[in-house]
Amino acid sequence: MSPRDVLILGAGVAGPTLAFWLARHGMRPVVVEQAATLRSSGNPIDVKGPAVHVAEQMGVLPRLRAAATAVTGVTLLDLAGRPMARLPTAPEGSQDIEITRADLATIMFEAAVDSAEYLFGDTVVSLTQDLAGVDVTFAKAAPRRFDLVIGTDGIHSTIRRMEFGPEERFARDLGINLATVPVPLDAVRDRHDMVVYNAPGRLALLHPGKVEGLAMFVFHGPASPGRDRRDKVAHTELVTDTYRGLGWRVPELVDALRQHPDPYFDRLSQIRIDSWSRGRVALLGDAASSVAIFGDGSTLAVAGAHTLAGALAANPTDHTRAFREYETTHRRLVNPKVRQIKPLAALLIPRTGRGLAARNLTTRALARVFADRFAPKLSTATR
Ligand SMILES: Cc1cc2nc3c(=O)[nH]c(=O)nc-3n(C[C@H](O)[C@H](O)[C@H](O)COP(=O)(O)OP(=O)(O)OC[C@H]3O[C@@H](n4cnc5c(N)ncnc54)[C@H](O)[C@@H]3O)c2cc1C
Repeated sequence: MSPRDVLILGAGVAGPTLAFWLARHGMRPVVVEQAATLRSSGNPIDVKGPAVHVAEQMGVLPRLRAAATAVTGVTLLDLAGRPMARLPTAPEGSQDIEITRADLATIMFEAAVDSAEYLFGDTVVSLTQDLAGVDVTFAKAAPRRFDLVIGTDGIHSTIRRMEFGPEERFARDLGINLATVPVPLDAVRDRHDMVVYNAPGRLALLHPGKVEGLAMFVFHGPASPGRDRRDKVAHTELVTDTYRGLGWRVPELVDALRQHPDPYFDRLSQIRIDSWSRGRVALLGDAASSVAIFGDGSTLAVAGAHTLAGALAANPTDHTRAFREYETTHRRLVNPKVRQIKPLAALLIPRTGRGLAARNLTTRALARVFADRFAPKLSTATR
């Protein structure tokens, strides 16, 4: 007997994608999401390589392309806020798509809406496994029994805490804070370029988005006082202090953050866990292997969902073997992304003035190579 009833916790990117594929293989997924509706955020994310292929098989590629941003490059500024170099964000002819997190989650949810039972505004309170199944109690819904439970509940996963251990055991603090806030589109002057301004240890970025712009602050340093990621006042003050006195449009962007009722904050960490399953419970997406903002988390979530569903379908009577196959296959995609976290962080947010100068020198040289060899339209902006 193949596993029939599968509980999926979390309707972000991984959850609905997994529901789609489990249903396609004849299983009955139930997706439980703690938010009352789909959570939205204008943060830009990428759908690349293997995820593009999965999206194509799901029939959602045209919708993803229609919702894609128009971003094709990144313009780096010098300390005075003048354009210094422009680089393309993807190689010529690339099939990769940049899209907002909200649009990707909505499109995957709508593709899977008839494939699964969805329970919004609820969460899991307890899990009890035995050899034949998992008994689950919920905050609101009546208790139920499932064949399998999959945690797709993101970086701060509850399923991981319940079955694998406390978050501190698996989260590696990257020493970097993140804050993002939407800004009106008319505040964005170039629809095709992200604009990046660096000072040592700090990055401020303006992204043109699709229907609204996004300001992003990424900076090294201690966590905000109390380390409570929900304390928006403490985070806003930390950003204000950290970016005080910087040039370009930084004061205006910090002001947008201060005015907004609900900016996004997190302390960046990477999730590393030796095994993604315990008995009949497994993890997928950021819950299993978050690579923060440095490693194509949405691509990994979409591709991993396809791999996990395929492994369960191929091993209908042996979920242990299915989980092992999923993990072996999917770690081949995840591991290189994990290895690139530190070098990418060093490149994006050099800590010292010297490091920043060296990074800028390299970037200018790279921009010249791209401008000369690969894309005649691109040019190294002159100072
Ligand atoms: C600012 C920012 C920029 C990023 N940039 C990129 C990028 O350029 N490229 C890229 O590929 N990735 C990027 N990412 C990462 C990407 O967003 C995630 O890796 C991806 O969304 C992972 O999907 P997921 O489904 O595993 O988790 P999520 O999308 O986090 O979804 C988890 C879901 O679970 C729900 N949930 C949580 N706890 C519970 C609970 N207890 N009960 C019920 N439901 C629960 C949440 O409400 C949420 O809906 C970025 C992320 C951020 C924040």
